[in-house]
Amino acid sequence: MAKGKINVSVENIFPLIKKFLYSDHEIFLRELISNATDATSKLKHLSSIGEKNIKIDNPIIEIKVDKKGKKLHVIDEGIGMTIDEVKKYINEVAFSGAEEFLEKYKDSAKDTGIIGHFGLGFYSAFMVAKKVEIITKSYKNENAAHWICDGSPEYSISKSDKKERGTEIILHIDKDSKEFLEESRIKNLLLKYNKFMPIPIKFGTKEISKKTGKGKKEKEIKETVDDIINNTNPAWTKAPTELNEDSYKEFYKELYPMQFEEPLFNIHLNVDYPFNLTGILYFPKITNDINIQKDKIQLYQNQVFVTDNVEGIVPEFLTLLRGVIDSPDIPLNVSRSYLQADGAVKKISNYITRKVADKLSSLYKKDRKEFEKKWNDIKVVIEYGMLSEEKFYEKAEKFALYPTVNDKYFTLEELKKKVSKNQTDKDGKLVILYTSNKDEQHSYIEIAKEKGYEVLVLDSPIISHLIQKIETSNDKITFSRVDADVIDKLIKKENEEISKLNDKEKEKLKKIIEESVPKEKYTVQLESMDSSSAPFVITFPEFMRRMKEMQQSGGNSMFGNMPEIYNLIINVNNPINSEILKSKSKEKKERLIKQSLDLAKLSQNLLKGEDLTSFIKRSIDLIK
Ligand code: ADP
Repeated sequence: MAKGKINVSVENIFPLIKKFLYSDHEIFLRELISNATDATSKLKHLSSIGEKNIKIDNPIIEIKVDKKGKKLHVIDEGIGMTIDEVKKYINEVAFSGAEEFLEKYKDSAKDTGIIGHFGLGFYSAFMVAKKVEIITKSYKNENAAHWICDGSPEYSISKSDKKERGTEIILHIDKDSKEFLEESRIKNLLLKYNKFMPIPIKFGTKEISKKTGKGKKEKEIKETVDDIINNTNPAWTKAPTELNEDSYKEFYKELYPMQFEEPLFNIHLNVDYPFNLTGILYFPKITNDINIQKDKIQLYQNQVFVTDNVEGIVPEFLTLLRGVIDSPDIPLNVSRSYLQADGAVKKISNYITRKVADKLSSLYKKDRKEFEKKWNDIKVVIEYGMLSEEKFYEKAEKFALYPTVNDKYFTLEELKKKVSKNQTDKDGKLVILYTSNKDEQHSYIEIAKEKGYEVLVLDSPIISHLIQKIETSNDKITFSRVDADVIDKLIKKENEEISKLNDKEKEKLKKIIEESVPKEKYTVQLESMDSSSAPFVITFPEFMRRMKEMQQSGGNSMFGNMPEIYNLIINVNNPINSEILKSKSKEKKERLIKQSLDLAKLSQNLLKGEDLTSFIKRSIDLIK
């Protein structure tokens, strides 16, 4: 037996390791299994290049919990280490690596919580163990080694009688880390970090039923087999040509066992230059509630799970997607904000954006009808992307769809041609009408439809921002919600001649109404509309409403305290307005105005509380 002192200048590094890594203790298991995997892969490689003395048949890694003995074992059948190699790799190299790491990051690491993503390797075992043993036998024909270290810089190393090639790491779990002696805790960790690692990982055994015999003699027997917790060959590591629709769907289920809805389509990522990245992204059905859907993409490095927070790596609008990204080229030992500035990461992010745009474009070109069917489930991602990534906007412009209230779908280009020429505002811009809520704005939609205008349904939460952007990049068009003030200007053009009141009467009517509605709330305006349209119509200027909406969904707060001023449009062709004008009774005048105003408020969803109650009461009296 030989004794020695670990070659490290920091007198006692273990308390430091514990202190700095407290937030993510659980990653020790991932680190040890990664080492075991490396050792096994190295062995397979040596065997494949014809290194003599190596016989392998499906080496596995085994994890064993010994609750009574308070020990956790990680056992592999990999290349192992000779005594000299243990001295070199474990005592010197690894340790100084850990020291260097802690020196470098001791200030930043603590509060960013990113420390768990550092490959601290073997020494992370000391986060949970008070004593660690390594029993290892190299594939080289040499004595096995037994290394013991109790968490002080002292270690001992001696010969061991281990016969089989490979390495066993024994952790004597510390009393404040007892959770890692629970089978369920370990199982969950294995499923979280190691579910797709390339070497089979055994954790206990399980019973399966098996059929034996033929015909009448057939019977079912139970058999106990190793419980292998991982899929060593996950879909994203295969070539797209090896996979069909069903295999992608199956893999989705494997990733999200609790998810019952199938994904709409997937995107297979596969590059090896100038960076290495593989993965599969899925488009799930996306509702308007964006926030609850984020953070479903999992990031792996060489099939080892790293995190499900891909912020900074994937453009924000794509965090609504699901799936897997595997890249050894993403630096994880830096803070998130640094990530965004990193050149390699930028390239990766651009690549992903481009792939997603290309996929959408090909779906659109291949089967427009299918694409239309999916539109409402995917539009939020696309609109979000158009808003936030210029490159994506340029591509998406060609396939982004604008559905109408009649369930027709147009691209912007098609829409420009479709919108009738008389649908222009005073500056000659095409006015595209839309509704954000078919039910609430129903009466306005009807008015527009009667005039033969197309009305779009644009109801995503970020739509006002996107509209603003489209208007900026297309100076010939402007959007207007159906209940905005612009609609009556459009309508006026067609009906200008048919007003039943002369100018003097109109002036008088305007005065009467202005005197009986609150001045600070309504700007009264006379218009000639269909006689069958409502007597009064309330509109809210597009500009003001949009500013308010944008402010609510994050943005300019300049308009936060903007007073609510509505346009009150008086339809001079409606007979009720003639009544108001001509009636001798002041009471009747007021009753007609009040009732017409309430009706107008009702269709804008503005009639509430006491006003609503008294409106209902008055209406009942009328029926009687
Ligand atoms: P890293 O894995 O980042 O190199 P580690 O501290 O995890 O650092 O390990 C140091 C070295 O010890 C490894 O590079 C490897 O040579 C050796 N080693 C660790 N675990 C094993 C193992 N299970 N089998 C064989 N060698 C191992």
